[in-house]
Amino acid sequence: MIDFNIPPFSGNELVYMQEAVKNRKICGDGPFTKKCHAFLEEQTGAAAVYLTTSGTSALEMAAILSHIKPGDEVILPSFTFCSTADAFVARGARLVFVDVRPDTMNIDEKKIEAAITDRTRVIAVVHYAGVSCEMDEIMAIAKKHNLIVVEDAAQAVGSTYKGRVLGTIGDFGCYSFHETKNYSMGEGGALILPTLDQRDEAEICREKGTDRSRFFRGQVDKYTWVDYGSSYLPSDLNAAYLWAQLECFDEIRNDRMATWNAYDAAFRPMAEAGLLEVPFIPEGCVHNAHMYYLKLKDLPQRTAFIKYLKENGVMAVFHYIPLHSSPAGLKFGRFAGEDEYTTKESERLVRLPLYYHLTEEDRNKVIDTVRSFFA
Ligand SMILES: *Cc1c(COP(=O)(O)O)cnc(C)c1O
Repeated sequence: MIDFNIPPFSGNELVYMQEAVKNRKICGDGPFTKKCHAFLEEQTGAAAVYLTTSGTSALEMAAILSHIKPGDEVILPSFTFCSTADAFVARGARLVFVDVRPDTMNIDEKKIEAAITDRTRVIAVVHYAGVSCEMDEIMAIAKKHNLIVVEDAAQAVGSTYKGRVLGTIGDFGCYSFHETKNYSMGEGGALILPTLDQRDEAEICREKGTDRSRFFRGQVDKYTWVDYGSSYLPSDLNAAYLWAQLECFDEIRNDRMATWNAYDAAFRPMAEAGLLEVPFIPEGCVHNAHMYYLKLKDLPQRTAFIKYLKENGVMAVFHYIPLHSSPAGLKFGRFAGEDEYTTKESERLVRLPLYYHLTEEDRNKVIDTVRSFFA
């Protein structure tokens, strides 16, 4: 059986984790966390990057730092993982779901403005499959209406939009290092601050509401509880695992890209023949090979396709049930405008196996199995 995902392992993870254990440095913000911060700040060009315990907690921090109050509205796509919504619901926000574009499955920038009310505070965009949303238009809308932009870049580590790194374009960027993402620490993530304006506030929020980070830098002579916060910093053991992968940053991306490109070379002609649909990468977007998906005719064909693949040793999966039609989505939000594409397109989409070290043999088996379904 070819798995859908195998968590990345690049070789030095145990060496670094052992080092953390031997040196008795296992709590948060230890030497490996600092290495990861420095690397990610350099790689993204952001003013500050903080590892968090998950992508979800990075989103929670972004919601707290956005000063959301109960009743404030947050605009987001319905086609996303529930964490994008959870973070804002925890602050008492109402969710306003906007339709996606069928070509990228990203929020349709043309439909955002109609969803804005006098309660709107945040636009939370999701760079689906590591392919950027139309950030120029979205940032212009946010500026015009004085809104905060949170980038859920959980899937987009290493992707760019017109040369700018995703996660650094809006007011806050959120990465995930879950085991299903390109780079992993088991569970983990990062909050990205494009400027230093909210650095102190972010550090306080991440350290249980204390100014401990300022204390460690020698900026205050004792630390105390100064605001609301939580414990968002991961153990250095997890950071040690991640560090091994960040050291192989390009290699992991290139390896994934080889699979993505092989799939694309095989399936694009089938798309041109009208058998299925393949991902679209808009001009100016450089993606990170996070995901390769196909779109089939409809739900029954997709169900048959996934079953056929499984019977032939290939695990393919679908996601997401649109949030607006899920029990929590109904409770916490509403769909703005018409659901023209979200539900329809989500029912046609299927993700193929794609992970670091997927062998060429397995990749070819996936391709042959997909071809034989259509033969
Ligand atoms: C994975 C993911 C998250 C959540 O990340 P965790 O690290 O699992 O908490 C949030 N949003 C999107 C779009 C994701 O793909």
